[in-house]
Amino acid sequence: MDSEISRIFALRDILNTHNHKYYVLNQPEISDREFDALMRELTDLEARHPEVDDPLSPSRRVGSDLTDGFRQVAHVYPMLSLGNTYSVDEVDDFLHRADNALAGQKVTVVGEMKFDGTSISLIYERGRLVRAVTRGDGEKGDDVTENVKTIKSIPLTLRGDGYPDMFEIRGEIVLPWKAFDRLNREREFNEEPLFANPRNAASGTLKLMNPAEVARRGLDAYFYYLLGENLPSDNHYDNMMAARSWGFKVSHVMTRLESIDEVDKFISYWDTERKKLPVATDGLVFKVNSLRQQLNLGFTAKSPRWAIAYKFAAERALTRLRFVSFEVGRMGIITPVANLEPVLLSGTIVKRASLHNEDIIKQLDIHEHDMLYVEKGGEIIPKITGVDEKARVEGEVPVSFVSHCPSCGTPLVRVEGEASWVCPNKYGCGPQIAGRIEHFVGRRAMNIDGIGEETVQQLIDADLIHNIADLYDLKVEDLEHLDRFGVRSARRLVEGVDQSRLVPFERVVFALSIPFVGETVAKKLARAVGDIDTLMSMDSIRLSAIDDIGPKIAEKVVEYFESPENREIIARLRAAGLQFAAESRESKGGSEALAGKTIVISGTFALHSRDNYKEMIELHGGKNAGSISKKTDFVLAGENMGPAKLEKAKALGIPVIDENEFLKMIGGE
Ligand code: AMP
Ligand code: ZN
Repeated sequence: MDSEISRIFALRDILNTHNHKYYVLNQPEISDREFDALMRELTDLEARHPEVDDPLSPSRRVGSDLTDGFRQVAHVYPMLSLGNTYSVDEVDDFLHRADNALAGQKVTVVGEMKFDGTSISLIYERGRLVRAVTRGDGEKGDDVTENVKTIKSIPLTLRGDGYPDMFEIRGEIVLPWKAFDRLNREREFNEEPLFANPRNAASGTLKLMNPAEVARRGLDAYFYYLLGENLPSDNHYDNMMAARSWGFKVSHVMTRLESIDEVDKFISYWDTERKKLPVATDGLVFKVNSLRQQLNLGFTAKSPRWAIAYKFAAERALTRLRFVSFEVGRMGIITPVANLEPVLLSGTIVKRASLHNEDIIKQLDIHEHDMLYVEKGGEIIPKITGVDEKARVEGEVPVSFVSHCPSCGTPLVRVEGEASWVCPNKYGCGPQIAGRIEHFVGRRAMNIDGIGEETVQQLIDADLIHNIADLYDLKVEDLEHLDRFGVRSARRLVEGVDQSRLVPFERVVFALSIPFVGETVAKKLARAVGDIDTLMSMDSIRLSAIDDIGPKIAEKVVEYFESPENREIIARLRAAGLQFAAESRESKGGSEALAGKTIVISGTFALHSRDNYKEMIELHGGKNAGSISKKTDFVLAGENMGPAKLEKAKALGIPVIDENEFLKMIGGE
C-alpha cells in the first residue's frame, strides 16, 4: 500500500517534469506512448487511493465538463493597460523621458514580445496554483481556474525553490497558429462562425463553460510579470528568469537592452523575425528593468509610466482586383469572392479572398479593378480590409452583386435580418444538391467509405442520385460499369452505404444539412428530443426551450421539416433503416429515477467505482456536478468525504446519502 502511494507521488513528479520538458522547453525526452503509459499507471493508482487525491495532480489536466459559472474576483493589484505607439521615435521619446525623470541613473530596459491573446493573473500559494482570473474591467475579473488548469504549459505545482509563499504572476493566454487554424477548419466544416484571429479565439475559449472543450482546443501561455512581496530579485528580468526556473513559460525573446540604439535594433530585428514564432504577436513591450526605478516612475490613471508597447503595423499587401466571382454553398448562400492578381503575403501567395457578403462590398465601396488591401488573420482566410481609392481607374463602376444564381439562374432572395443572398432553388441547383450529398457522406456525418467529392458529382451526372436518399437505392450493377469504377469499388461503395445504417441518431441529424445545425447543435438536439418524430413535430417555441438552441436555429429546423421534399427524403431514409432514435436510457438499463436531479459525488466507495456511479447518475437521468451549490439536489458520499464539502453541504442544507441509499433510489440491489 505505502509503496503504491509513494509511487503516486513519484509519478506525479515524473509526469510534471515531462510536461514541462514538452510544453515549456519544447524538448520532449520520452515518446507519447511512454508518457501515456506513465499517465495510465498514475490514474490507475489514484483510483485505488483517493485518500491522496490532489486536484492539482497532472492526471487532472484533462478537464471535466462541469462548471458552475464564473465567480468574480477582485484583483490584488489592478490590471492596467499599456501606453502604446506605432512609431519608433515615440519609443525613443519614452526612453528619454525615463532617463530625465531618473536624472542621471543608468536605465536598463527589457524588450519583450507583445503576445496577442488574453491576459491572465495567476495566484500561487506555497508553490501551488490557487486561482486564475481574467483581466475583466481591470479591478475585478472572472475566476477561470478550472479552464486554466487544462493548459498544459502552466505549472499547477512549482518546480525548484526560492519562490515566495504567495505571489501573483501575469501573462498572456494564446491560441497558437496551428491550433487556431485547426479550430477554424473545424468550424468552417460545421458551418459555425469563424474566429477572426487567435486573440478572439483565445478569449472565447477561456470563457467556455466546458473545461473539457477548453483542454481540447490547445491553449498555451507566456508569462511576463511577477508581483508580490519578497520577490527573488529587485529587477524585472531576474524575476522572470526565476519564474522560468519554477516552470513558467517565459519567452526567449525577452532581452535586456542598455541603450536606445539597442532598442532600435531589437525593434527592427523582431519586426520580421516574429513571423517565425508559433503564436500571434502584435508588437513589442519595453519595460524599465529596475523595480525601484519603476516605483519612482509610477503610474498614470491607465497605465504604468515605466513601460510602453510598440505595435507592429498589420501585415497587408496591395493588389489589383481581377473580378468578383460568386459561389453557391450547400445551404444556397452566395459568397462573393475577390479574384486577385497573385500577391505574396506572410510567405504565401494569395489569389483569392472571401468578400463574405454584399454589405461588406458596399461598406468598402469596392469598384471593378480596384487596388485592394489584403490582410491575413489566420492561415486559411485572407481578408480584404480596404481600397486604395487613389489608384482607382476612372470610369470603373462599383462592384454589383449578382441578382440571379450563377449556377442555376434562379433569382436570388435576401433573407430578412441576414446579410446574405440565397438561391431558393434548393432541389434544382447543382452546387446545393452536390454540397448536401458531399456533406452527408462526409467523415463526420455518415462516414460513407468509397465516395468522395468527385464520385458524388459523377453519380449526379450519371443520373443515379439527386438527393441523399437515392444513395440507399444504389446497386453494384448501377455502378460497376461507370468510369473509374470496377466491381470492387462498386461493392465497396454499396457496402459503405449499407454500414451507414448504424450511424447514431445525432450524426444523422448533423448529416441532414439543416441550416445552422452543425455537429454540436445536432448532438444537443438529438439528445434533447430523442427521436426524429418528436423533432419533426416540435414548434419553434418548444425547440428554443432546449439548452443552447436559439430562436434562429429553432426557426430553421421547423422550416426544414415543413418542406415536402425533405419530408419525403426522411420517409425514404427511414424505410432504408437509418437510426432515427437516440439509444434510449431504458434500452441500456436506465430509468428516469433521477430525472432533473443535480448530484455531486464525493469520497471513495466500496461497491462500485466513482466513475461507475457517475455513469449510473447519467443513465438514470441525473446530472453530475463538480462542486456543491444551491442547485445541488444531494451529495452521494463515500468514505473520506472532504471536510470542506461536508461543511458546505450542511450549510446549504443539502442531503448527503451513502451508496446503499443511492442504489436503492435507482432501484438496484
Ligand atoms: P493593450 O491591451 O493594447 O493596452 O495592451 C496591454 C496588454 O498587452 C496587456 O493587458 C497584456 O494582456 C498584453 N501583453 C502581451 N504581452 C505582454 C508583455 N510582454 N508585457 C505586458 N503586457 C503584455
Ligand atoms: Zn442556384
